[in-house]
Amino acid sequence: MPKVKENCGVVGIYSLSGKNVVPMVFDALRALQHRGQEAWGFAVPNKPPFKKVGLVSHSSSEFKKIAQEYASPCVIGHVRYSTMGTSTLANAQPLKVKDLCVAHNGTIANAQELSNLVGGCSFTPQNASDTLVAAERLVSLISENGEMGKALSILKNEMVGSYCFTFISDDNSVYAARDPKGFRPMVLGHKESDDTYIVTSESAAVTAVAATLQRDVTPGELIKLSKNGLETEKFSDDKSRAHCSFEFTYFAHPSSMMEGHNIYVSRKNIGRFMAKKFPIKDADLVIPVPDSARPAALGYAQELGVSFDEGLLKDRYSKKGPLRSFIEPHQSDRVEINRWIIPISEIIRDRHVVVIDDSLVRGTSSKAIIKALRRAGAKKISMLITYPQINYPCYAGIDFPSQEELATFTNGKEMTTEEITEMVRKSIGVDFLGYNDAENLADAVGMPKDSMCFTCSSGNYDSLGIKPDFTKREQVKAKI
Ligand code: SF4
Repeated sequence: MPKVKENCGVVGIYSLSGKNVVPMVFDALRALQHRGQEAWGFAVPNKPPFKKVGLVSHSSSEFKKIAQEYASPCVIGHVRYSTMGTSTLANAQPLKVKDLCVAHNGTIANAQELSNLVGGCSFTPQNASDTLVAAERLVSLISENGEMGKALSILKNEMVGSYCFTFISDDNSVYAARDPKGFRPMVLGHKESDDTYIVTSESAAVTAVAATLQRDVTPGELIKLSKNGLETEKFSDDKSRAHCSFEFTYFAHPSSMMEGHNIYVSRKNIGRFMAKKFPIKDADLVIPVPDSARPAALGYAQELGVSFDEGLLKDRYSKKGPLRSFIEPHQSDRVEINRWIIPISEIIRDRHVVVIDDSLVRGTSSKAIIKALRRAGAKKISMLITYPQINYPCYAGIDFPSQEELATFTNGKEMTTEEITEMVRKSIGVDFLGYNDAENLADAVGMPKDSMCFTCSSGNYDSLGIKPDFTKREQVKAKI
C-alpha cells in the first residue's frame, strides 16, 4: 500500500450579493499556507478545477487574469500537504466527480475498503487519493438518496478517519461538512459589506478576507450556502469530541481561534504550564526553535522570570528556508530547512540554554539543532517539548512516520515514559529533556482533556473506532 499523507486546509466562499469571490479565495489560501506547502487549487461551478504545484504566492502575478477567467460568486479552495513522491499536481485538489468538486482536510484511513463500494477502481497504488474515493462514494449516495445530508449520514458510518470537506456543485451551491468528532478544525465567518460567507479550516483565513468570525462549525454539521442563504443541518448526533491537540502546539496559525481558544494565547499558556512542570531555575536563557514554539518559549520565560531571546534564526532567503520542515514530504527537504536554522553564538556562548520546541517526532531536526548550539558554545542545554511523547502514528490527518522512524521507538522493549525520555535525551544529545503531558497541555489550553485527541501519544485509537496491532502505518491500513 502506498504511503498517503494528508493534512491540508480547505475553504468555501459564497457571496449573496453576487460579488466575484475568486480574489478572496487567493487571500484565504495564502492565510492557510502553513497547513500545506505543496500544491493549491480552487473550483467554481461548471469548470474544471484550477490547480498549481507550489506556494499560492508564487502565482500572484497571474491572480488578476485567473480571477477574471474564473469569475464566480461561489468558490472552494484547497492547500495541500500530501504526496506519494510522484506527481503532486495529479493528486492536488479540488477533485471533480460528476457535478461535484471536493476539497478535503483529513485522512480517510479505510479508503481501499471504501473504494470497493464504488467499484474498487479509483484506489490503486498509482492513484492513491482517499479524497477521490470518498467523493465518488458520496456522489453515488447522493444519487441514491437525493440529498447531501442523508448521503453524509450514511457515509460517516462507512468511513474511518477524519474529515473537513468543502464541496461546490454545478448548481452553484457550496457545502461544508466537519467530521462527527471534530478531529480537524473548521470555522464559519461572514463579511457584512458584501454579504459573503466563508467556511474554512482556520479563522486566519476569515481574517485575511476581512470577514468576521462567527463560530466553529459544530462536529457533525453540514452547512449549505446558496441563493437561499445559509442553511445548516446535523448529519451526526455523536456528542464525543476528539479535537486534535497537535493543532494547538504546532499546526494551526497563531492568530487563529479554535474551539473558542486563540492559538497564540494557548501556546503562551502551554509555556507557562511547562514552567510549572519543569522549573529549570539555573537557566540563563530561554530560546524557541523557530517558529511555532516562540509563544510557548515566551510564556515559559515570563513565568520563570528568565531572559527570553532569539538564539536560533531561520534563514528566510534560502529556497526552503522560510518553509515548515515537519510538513515537507521529503527527508532531504526537511534536512535542508533545519540546516538553515542558524544559532547566534553571541547569545548562546557559555550559557545554560533552555530550548523550547513544539514537538519531537523523528529527532533528526532536534539533533541537528543541538549540535549547532554546542558548536555555538552553549555551556549546558535543556530541551522542553510542549507536546507529549509521540509514540504512535496518526490516522486522523497528520503525517507522523511509522513507529520505527519515531525517536521514541522501543523496538518491542517494554519501557516506561521516563525510560523513553532518557533514551531520546541521549540520542539527541541534550543535558536534560522534558516532555509535556496531555493533562498539562489540555489545562493550559483550557479544554477538557477528554474533548481532545492524544492518540499519537497514548496509542488509544477508540475515538477513531479502530484497535490497531502494528508497527507500521501500512499494517494498520491493511487491518481496518
Ligand atoms: S493522533 Fe495526534 S496528530 Fe493525529 S489527530 Fe490525534 S492528536 Fe492530532
